[in-house]
Amino acid sequence: MAKADYYETLGVSRSASADEIKKAYRKLAVKYHPDKNPGDKKAEEKFKEISEAYEVLKDEKKKAMYDQYGHDAFAGGAGGAGQYQGGFQDPFDLFREVFGGSRSGGIFDSFFGGSSSRYETDRRGADLRYDLEITLEQAFSGVTKTIEYRHNVACSKCHGSGCEPGTSPKTCPQCHGRGQVITSQGFFSMSRPCPRCNGTGRIIEKPCTYCRGAGVQTEKTQVKVKIPAGIRNGSKLRFQDLGEAGTNGGPSGDLYIVVFIKEHPVFERDGNDLIVRQPLSFTLATLGGEIQISTLKGEANLKIPAGTQPGTIFKMRGYGMPQMNSTKTGDLLVYVSVEVPKKLTKDQRTKLEAFAKSMGEATDKGSVKKK
Ligand SMILES: [Zn+2]
Ligand SMILES: [Zn+2]
Repeated sequence: MAKADYYETLGVSRSASADEIKKAYRKLAVKYHPDKNPGDKKAEEKFKEISEAYEVLKDEKKKAMYDQYGHDAFAGGAGGAGQYQGGFQDPFDLFREVFGGSRSGGIFDSFFGGSSSRYETDRRGADLRYDLEITLEQAFSGVTKTIEYRHNVACSKCHGSGCEPGTSPKTCPQCHGRGQVITSQGFFSMSRPCPRCNGTGRIIEKPCTYCRGAGVQTEKTQVKVKIPAGIRNGSKLRFQDLGEAGTNGGPSGDLYIVVFIKEHPVFERDGNDLIVRQPLSFTLATLGGEIQISTLKGEANLKIPAGTQPGTIFKMRGYGMPQMNSTKTGDLLVYVSVEVPKKLTKDQRTKLEAFAKSMGEATDKGSVKKK
């Protein structure tokens, strides 16, 4: 894999001054700092790349070597120019060096608006998903539901610290609380989770007896969920911080409620429109008249014009589903079919035959035959 050019990484030209290089680094380092992009691995990678590029370009000697040999200048192994031995600086140390902050307090914290005294070691809790089924009627009018679910919350005894009350966690001596250890290979360095503290940056000597050091406990929680009128099948509603509690001071995950709408025995939904299938007697279709249609708004009258053909679709404006966050409403589409009577009385048959005759459907043509 080709390594990005250090100048390109910092977005500066090859003739950039030391000041310009520093400015570029400061801007990018703040933008991609992991504390500003929790859980974003790409930002973290970028942060490391920026640090590495800056570390080389800020140093006159290293910069000259890089200009002459490129990345080979620092590839310590066989084949590379191997001019420089030693690892890259820890990107966080470099950051502090440039910004003048300390691990806790000072200018560093003011950059990220928090009392962040750890890097990469606090863990955001997992997101949770809850599937909620509602009826089409409830989707039509909107509904408030109370759901109950289990999730992890901060331990009530140790308040999430994982330590027996009265004790506190020790900073991991191996990674100095960073949670990551840097291993160097030539001039390249890689970081991996600290094996001593499992990447948490701290060591609990007396774990909380209630949660056994996990810092969390399971709890049943009830949430009132307001489902807006017009919600679509499969919609996701997000409830911030109602997922699993974070550990090591990390933020909670979110709760996602996925709303499913039960199939309705009468209505089908097509976007904001509703579809209903309505059989008509053939006399009604022929002669016309008015029928009552059950809609989600209640009973409504529908005029059937004389001579309505099977397959006609009538649109009842405004009788569909409301559109979410809007005053618009869909329509009710009435798909008409015509029912043919299966049995006729003798009298009815005679009359229909007379009708057929009057329509010019001659019986000798075979279109109407007596049994
Ligand atoms: Zn506890
Ligand atoms: Zn450690």
